[in-house]
Amino acid sequence: MEIEKVHCLIIGSGPAGYTAAIYASRAGLNPVLYQGIQPGGQLTITTEVENYPGYPEGIQGPEMMVHFENQAKRMGADIRYGLATKVDFSARPHRVQIDEEKWIEADAVIISTGASAKWLGLESEQRLNGYGVSACAVCDGFFFKGKEVAIVGAGDTAAEEAMYLSKICSQVHMIVRRGEMRASKVMQERAINTPNIKIYWNSETDEILGDKKVEGVRIKNNQTGTTEEIPVSAFFVAIGHQPNSEIFKGYITMDDAGYIKTIPGTSKTNVEGVFAAGDVQDKVYRQAVTAAGSGCMAALDTERYLSEKGLH
Ligand code: NDP
Repeated sequence: MEIEKVHCLIIGSGPAGYTAAIYASRAGLNPVLYQGIQPGGQLTITTEVENYPGYPEGIQGPEMMVHFENQAKRMGADIRYGLATKVDFSARPHRVQIDEEKWIEADAVIISTGASAKWLGLESEQRLNGYGVSACAVCDGFFFKGKEVAIVGAGDTAAEEAMYLSKICSQVHMIVRRGEMRASKVMQERAINTPNIKIYWNSETDEILGDKKVEGVRIKNNQTGTTEEIPVSAFFVAIGHQPNSEIFKGYITMDDAGYIKTIPGTSKTNVEGVFAAGDVQDKVYRQAVTAAGSGCMAALDTERYLSEKGLH
């Protein structure tokens, strides 16, 4: 298998990865950035971003990520398509396999692989994904204007998305697996008090119905065991996110949920020369601006590390 030697390797192309690339380029680290499966990251599946400083009028998520990418390119970062498929951090230089077809050997690695939406794991959910099943109400709600839709989840995301959908769709059926919601009080109350949001407590999704597109959902009350079919045109999943850290298992220390642990106040992981930034190491803030800030930290930590090792 081909081996390429790289000074600073960045994995992932959200705000963390691109910001790390901007800083690393300006520091002369000649970073190579692999974009991963979703170039631009989660912001490419959102619409309006109003809370990123510097855009007083707001900006569309995908457009903002093009700005990030262009800025990193202008500073000289080598931005490439490709997915990190395996790593070997047992010795230095660290090795990262790309697309199962070549190895990169890097003096330093910045992990900024982000997080992805969680799914229920039903066969029907996978089969109808993109045909009415979605994990992003803000992206896809518009396609179901005036229709009845369902949403599963009971956290802040689910409550917020249910409210968003209630403004577009005729009726929102919200499926909550316990007798209470995890969402903050104010968000819960807003959802509960919205007339066209109907909440199904203690209910789980049995099956999403439909052959070629979503036509309904069968839910089961987990206390009484009774099932009910609700005709809907779309099924939104809002049950949280999973950090994209699978390939680093065995080398990098993580918490129980798979979030990479960094030394507080730094981007350092337990492996010398490997740094982490953005949502893959942050389950608390998870904002574009905090991810970008941590990407900056990772580039600065990398520069310092390489200097200390006499590699830069
Ligand atoms: P959370 O992890 O907070 O909530 C996930 C929800 O999905 C829980 O209610 C959980 O149920 C439910 N769930 C998980 N798995 C399943 C399943 N298999 N079937 C049915 N239901 C399931 O994720 P969120 O994305 O909502 O929020 C993540 C973080 O982001 C939180 O800290 C939240 O506060 C924050 N946030 C804040 C916002 C704001 O302030 N405006 C907006 C959005 C998010 P159960 O409760 O039973 O475990």
